[in-house]
Amino acid sequence: FTDAEVYQQSFNSREYLKEFYSLRDSQGQPNTFLMENLKSLFKMFSLDGLRGDTLIDVGCGPTIYQVLSACEHFQEIIALDYTDQNRQELLKWLRNEPGAFDWRPVVQYVCELEGDREKWAEKEEKLRRKVRQVLKCDVTKANPVDPVSLPPADCLLSTLCLEAACKDLATFRSALRNISALVKPGGHLVMVTVLQETYYAFNKQVFSCLHLERNEVEEAVEGAGFEVKFSEVQPYLTSDIRVDCKAVLSLVARR
Ligand code: SAH
Repeated sequence: FTDAEVYQQSFNSREYLKEFYSLRDSQGQPNTFLMENLKSLFKMFSLDGLRGDTLIDVGCGPTIYQVLSACEHFQEIIALDYTDQNRQELLKWLRNEPGAFDWRPVVQYVCELEGDREKWAEKEEKLRRKVRQVLKCDVTKANPVDPVSLPPADCLLSTLCLEAACKDLATFRSALRNISALVKPGGHLVMVTVLQETYYAFNKQVFSCLHLERNEVEEAVEGAGFEVKFSEVQPYLTSDIRVDCKAVLSLVARR
């Protein structure tokens, strides 16, 4: 199991972005994993009630793709991650600093899903304006943002984090209970989780992943006080040596 300190010591944000968040690989092949997840996020954030003032993104990593559709429906975004380098990489993009990762192809793709590819610059600007805080968090702590205390948000988002951060199902369940306190009663949880994955690898390093089945995730979400409103499994059929995931679960639940 790859614990949070290993992430802090050896998760290379830049290499992670290059490996998993280019819309096309060096051979020009489309990144179907990313594209499918963007479509799911677009779909979930189009559902009724998925709007409000604040959204908290838990385990944001160095990425912004997960909030591209969300930022159309929430006024303020707070991004949380354990590692310093991921928060720094995200801040670099938010501040539009030289050397920041180029998200343009991804932003354009989402704008196309939303109906107007030409709106990409506007969306980037909107997102940069809406992300107000980037804070350290540990989902295994009762208050994940300790010593800070955040007012409960209207929506919680978490993509590909808990299965990386939790060593077993009991820890996964308790992490969901921990983060549930960050959202208001009546607020939503939006999750994208890989199923039946045990590892992912990049930059010659292997990170462990908690092997999860759909029903285990849904039951853990319900056990944390949510009612599942939407749940969809997308098989991942591509043969890919970098990951052994079999499918991706997209889920919306209401607290
Ligand atoms: N959300 C991003 C990143 C996923 S990678 C994406 O969709 O690509 C997994 C992330 O979980 C990493 O950014 C890592 O720093 C974070 N993480 C690992 N252990 C954690 C913990 N205990 N608490 C919070 N985040 C953690």
